[in-house]
Amino acid sequence: MRPTVLCFSGLDPSGGAGLQADIESIGASGAHATVACTAITVQNSQAVLGFEPVSSTLLKAQAQVVLDDLPVKAIKSGMLGTVDNIAMLTDLFVSNIIDAGTPFVLDPVLVANSGGHLGDKDTLVKAFAQLLPHATLITPNTHELRALTGFDDLHDCAKALNGTGVKAVLVKTSHDFESGNIEQFLYINEKIAHTSIIERLDGEFHGSGCSLASYIAGRLAIGDDLIGAVKNADTWIINTLKNADRPHPDNPKAQLIPNRFI
Ligand code: PLP
Repeated sequence: MRPTVLCFSGLDPSGGAGLQADIESIGASGAHATVACTAITVQNSQAVLGFEPVSSTLLKAQAQVVLDDLPVKAIKSGMLGTVDNIAMLTDLFVSNIIDAGTPFVLDPVLVANSGGHLGDKDTLVKAFAQLLPHATLITPNTHELRALTGFDDLHDCAKALNGTGVKAVLVKTSHDFESGNIEQFLYINEKIAHTSIIERLDGEFHGSGCSLASYIAGRLAIGDDLIGAVKNADTWIINTLKNADRPHPDNPKAQLIPNRFI
């Protein structure tokens, strides 16, 4: 049996982001993906039109059947959607229903790349404070990083998150600048443990954050250490973006969908 990753993520009908991105990326990493679905969103590569979250009771039941059945070696969370769902996931760690020491990659999804909200930002930010200490790695985009910490400088943000108990913070600068290479910093214990320089490609991508976080979770499940998992994910993600599908060839601003079968 391949090592299993249990994801907590929402359905994106367009297949670019959310649980489909998680399943495809974790499969590509060599691990097996399972999903406790947190919400059903109504969106495509251009916009979020709405979503309905699942109840925390239903979410917990989905997670429990997977944990009872399969060799879960890592956890990944994406869109959680509600304060109750964040509290429920926190409780799975606190009550040891998820084995202590299981690597946990937390992608603190607040807003889709298209700009649409995937929950009430302020209440979600407050609720994340309980979950953060259980994370092995957090993978926020720059908007999420600033929203979670209240700081402006990205390095200050990363150190502040490390200070909450998150073991590692992956800082991705892609949203801060429109040109030049993308720098990525992995902060461990308030110090930069690894830096990567990633080529900037034209266009916006729908689901690139989900894909990167999930691939890292897959590699952690297989046994990579953190730096190794991040390096492997960086090598992989750039190819998914170079081979991305463009649903609207005539609209350079429309989002592209990563091709995770490369
Ligand atoms: N999860 C769901 C269900 C989503 O719909 C989205 C964005 O649309 C995300 C996560 C985050 O997507 P991205 O990887 O583009 O930040």
